[in-house]
Amino acid sequence: MFSSEAEAVLQARYLKDGETPADMFRRVAGHVAQAETRNGRDSFRAADEYRRLMDDLVFLPNSPTLINAGKARAQLAACFVLPVDDSLTSIFETLKNAALIHQSGGGTGFSFSRLRPACDRVSTTGGEASGPVSFMHIYDVATQVVKQGAARRGANMAVLRVDHPDIEQFITAKRSHDVLNNFNLSVAITDDFMQAVAAGRPYALVNPRNGGVVKTVAARGLFSLLVRMAWESGEPGLFFLDTVNRYNPTPGLGAFEAPNPCSEQPLLPYESCVLGSINLTRLVAGGDIDFGRLRQVVHTAVSFLDNVIDINDYPLPAVAEATRRTRKIGLGIMGLAEVFIMLDIPYASEAAVKLTGRILEFITGEARQASALLGAERGSFPAFAASVYPGRGFAAMRNATVTTIAPTGTISIIAGCSSGIEPLFALALSRRVLEGRVLTSVNRTVVDYLSQRNLYTEEIAETIATCGSVADTALPARIKEVLATAREIAPYWHVAHLAAAQMFTDNGVSKTVNMPHEASEADVAAIFRQAYAGGCKGVTVYRDGSRAEQVLTGGTVC
Ligand code: ADP
Repeated sequence: MFSSEAEAVLQARYLKDGETPADMFRRVAGHVAQAETRNGRDSFRAADEYRRLMDDLVFLPNSPTLINAGKARAQLAACFVLPVDDSLTSIFETLKNAALIHQSGGGTGFSFSRLRPACDRVSTTGGEASGPVSFMHIYDVATQVVKQGAARRGANMAVLRVDHPDIEQFITAKRSHDVLNNFNLSVAITDDFMQAVAAGRPYALVNPRNGGVVKTVAARGLFSLLVRMAWESGEPGLFFLDTVNRYNPTPGLGAFEAPNPCSEQPLLPYESCVLGSINLTRLVAGGDIDFGRLRQVVHTAVSFLDNVIDINDYPLPAVAEATRRTRKIGLGIMGLAEVFIMLDIPYASEAAVKLTGRILEFITGEARQASALLGAERGSFPAFAASVYPGRGFAAMRNATVTTIAPTGTISIIAGCSSGIEPLFALALSRRVLEGRVLTSVNRTVVDYLSQRNLYTEEIAETIATCGSVADTALPARIKEVLATAREIAPYWHVAHLAAAQMFTDNGVSKTVNMPHEASEADVAAIFRQAYAGGCKGVTVYRDGSRAEQVLTGGTVC
């Protein structure tokens, strides 16, 4: 049932000594279900339901849950955000805390926007401040040194507001290669900035220490620099701060400043979040999604993730406190692109975008129902009364947020499906095995799709194995549209799916907008504008071949 890639990943990091995947799922289900006993319920039934969902590869929780469940100090969440205040004490206290989180398997996001800019006054020493970017380098080195459990290095997100005086330095921080490798960078973009860009207005950079205007720059000039760097290297990404805060379910607890490393989970300082994803390929029946079954899966998954909040062994008291106050969970999806293939719908089509929205609307709606039921039974999250929910007619709610679309980088490999809402990167995956031998496996959904139509010939199989694509074959145009890979799909459609998914997702959506190598800087700017106008919470582009190291290589590009 598991692909060779899945076997390799499971053996390398997930399975304890002598464990089979079924043992692992039993371990995870049993551990998480213990929370039921705390709530005075029968944990065996819950454990059995959770185990079956994972055994069927219908639902998988984020990696730390799979790896750490059952351990003495089991830290189960993937996402954390820590505050960085404008003092040496805070900077190094948070660095220490981040190291502890990395050690436990989590990733950390930080906003460096509260730090005074480089060359600003330091009253205690009478000297000059070093600025956010220099501290990011210290964090990076520390992350490099503290390897996580089974040789997994920590991952970080650094955010800087677009009106911080050091913003240019931040935007170009990764220009010299081989620095800040343990960081993803995102610029926190405000509505005011986007309006200044649209109007061609100047724009003030403000010292966060005293609110003083340090200098005024052309908003378009700054935007062009951002676009150029993203065009060159895919970084920084954009984090649309005002959009994110418009959807803050607990504004009384403070504003969002940063998300987790892969940017799909905005969190308040010290909050953590556990993610889990539904493999939609297991829920296709009769030429459609089986929404009845999906409903059941969502309800069980919400119960699972909610129990993780109670059973989790938090790495810091402040994290335990902030997380239990809002009880945020992030249920998402994976395998979407393959569902489109199974249903014979091109990813690049209105029909597909509509289906993305319909699926997420259904999942978020059902997840809220599940959370409201749990809230009525076990109590709402403690900050409920001060949240947006009473005003929207909810009498109870167990979790301040219910949905997030994670990248599912590893769990989609284990589940054997496409990741998150991404199109297939290639129709075949090549991985180098022993002695440089290359093993190529053609995607099973693609093989089925072509076989059902009597189109899976030896020649086509050969082309897919070598090119990872059918773009240059004599297959009918419609077939090529359905089997188009990420780099063959116009960037517009990537953003259309991102926006459709975001509209119905409580937290953020992980998505890389793939662009062809020939894409221009104007094309990147257009994508940024489309994402902002479409209500996305963030966006990242990747121009083919722009970064030397490509994580996934799917066949050679013919
Ligand atoms: P997985 O498939 O392993 O569960 P995802 O690719 O969905 O993980 O990533 C989800 C989140 O997990 C990321 O946004 C990040 O917060 C965290 N994460 C991913 N990779 C790492 C890593 N190497 N180190 C620390 N945290 C990570």
